Amino acid sequence: MVNIQQSPTATAQGPIKQYDAIIIGAGVGGLYALHHLRKMGFSVRVYEGAAGVGGTWWWNRYPGARVDGPGSPFYCYTFSEDLVREWDWADTQPDQPSVLAYLEYVADRLDLRRDIQLETWIRDARYDEEKQRWLVETSAGERICCQFLICAVGTLSAAYKPNIPGIDDFAGECYHTGRWPQETVSFVGKRVGVIGTGSSGVQAIPEIAREAAHLTVFQRTPQYTIPARNRPLDPELVRQVRENWPAIRAQLNASPAGMPIEITKRLASEDTAEQRQALYEELWQKGGFHLLFSSYADILTDKEANRSLAEFVRGKIRETVRDPKTAEKLLPDYYLGTKRQLLDNGYYETFNRDNVTLVDLREDPMQKITPTGVRTTTGEHQLDMLVLATGYDAVTGALVRLNPKGRGGVGLSEKWRTRFNTYLGIGISDFPNLLMIHGPGSPSVLFNMPLGAELESTWIGDCMSYLRERGLGAIEPTPDAEQNWDQEVAALANATLYPLTDSWYMGANIPGKPRQFCAHLGGPLYFQRISEVAAQGYEGFVFEQKRDGGVTTATGGPQETDSETAPGRSASI
Ligand code: NAP
Repeated sequence: MVNIQQSPTATAQGPIKQYDAIIIGAGVGGLYALHHLRKMGFSVRVYEGAAGVGGTWWWNRYPGARVDGPGSPFYCYTFSEDLVREWDWADTQPDQPSVLAYLEYVADRLDLRRDIQLETWIRDARYDEEKQRWLVETSAGERICCQFLICAVGTLSAAYKPNIPGIDDFAGECYHTGRWPQETVSFVGKRVGVIGTGSSGVQAIPEIAREAAHLTVFQRTPQYTIPARNRPLDPELVRQVRENWPAIRAQLNASPAGMPIEITKRLASEDTAEQRQALYEELWQKGGFHLLFSSYADILTDKEANRSLAEFVRGKIRETVRDPKTAEKLLPDYYLGTKRQLLDNGYYETFNRDNVTLVDLREDPMQKITPTGVRTTTGEHQLDMLVLATGYDAVTGALVRLNPKGRGGVGLSEKWRTRFNTYLGIGISDFPNLLMIHGPGSPSVLFNMPLGAELESTWIGDCMSYLRERGLGAIEPTPDAEQNWDQEVAALANATLYPLTDSWYMGANIPGKPRQFCAHLGGPLYFQRISEVAAQGYEGFVFEQKRDGGVTTATGGPQETDSETAPGRSASI
């Protein structure tokens, strides 16, 4: 059975390593943060639980996993023209091995690996108010003391295994899409069950169906998916992009999702029903997010506009799926786009195959998982393999599981019990010197992730440098600033249809999780806001002068001390 929780064992011992900052996570965010902070002269080390770099792209090796946004050549780091020139993407929606290979290439090209420690989980991180530093223990038993704790722990990294009765009793193979094994998984000749029809399920299902003897899809909520229309990347586009990279980069920075998607200002009501139909058809054929973002400006804010597009997609499902009863089960009924929009490569068509069965859990609820399969009200589905495509405790889950202890030893899980308050999605009151990349209340999952990581890491680097230049020991948001930010994030979301749907954006997929929209919907305006905050001397934050107990380290790696303080000592290179 898939094991999602990590259980570190070694006892903390040995000398205490000193850094300016440690970064938790060597995914898209952590890799760039390491590069950037190191260049700024900070001593930094990255700790990563996986056996390789890449974060979500290291773990998500399930069949069919690929970028399902506008993709290449735009889902990448933008800061280096060399990287843009050197890396050749094959497809418009690169598959997981390609993205992972890219991130590995970046790690080598920027010589990042020497400062990354793999297979190391952070098992404890607590802020020492006297020393103004974080004291950290790893699963390997190391002790670290650092001024800044930078959490690049991923937004979709805390895999969620639902508490279905009997889930640990299944005797066959069982895998979670977000914790897929390194070795090849064969479906040949097997009866496979997939639970979950979000992005991961919708990508995996057509691939598994091609190999498996039989595939049973257990669907709780039917979803709208749009053809991804993945295709080989046009060399002419690549040439143009490479030649005009600074201008393209500026365009990406200015676009609402950090992606080159045309955003229309036209409202659905400005067109006739026939015109809307024709436009939807054109954008459906184009594929990708165009249907959602380039059709009408009010799809995500106006119920009628949304209904017209939703009905168009329901029509496509009825057209595609030959068996009308199966098609009916696949028809979604929430506001399109208010769950993460899915893109697929032949998802609805898969239900025309003889070896695929759809179980609608809304009419035939799941009762339990048995050693040999899944029991629903109508009977038992015998399985050799179970695939849990059941998603993540998104955006906050990995932070809560890390559970750093701030002022007074209070853990983040306690602080966030009823609401995920942050300031700018970067800082948290009572957690001085803890800075997040893609934290809750930042655009994170609704913005091009590598580009967002660059922009946030740059802000973090500037902030650290501000403290360094002024001899400051700590920075922390005020509770007021945090509350105002929370209201701003909520107000932006409440102006849309997002809060009307149970989705992971709202925390609704995790039992007991506070219902709260997880991201700032401002896009480029968000990045403008955080720049303004910095320009105004970090308005909304408070600083502490450095106390003597703080240890200063310089560029070039850690200092080791055998006690937790080494006043006045600075590192040599
Ligand atoms: P997800 O969107 O949260 O989907 C989870 C699925 O599991 C849903 O269909 C959910 O049903 C179902 N489920 C959960 N608990 C269940 C239970 N107890 N019984 C039956 N069904 C259950 O997770 P995901 O598909 O892994 O995707 C998460 C996010 O990761 C995506 O939205 C996307 O942002 C990202 N992602 C990106 C890519 C990419 O870019 N290539 C690929 C994969 C994922 P309900 O809808 O009823 O809750």
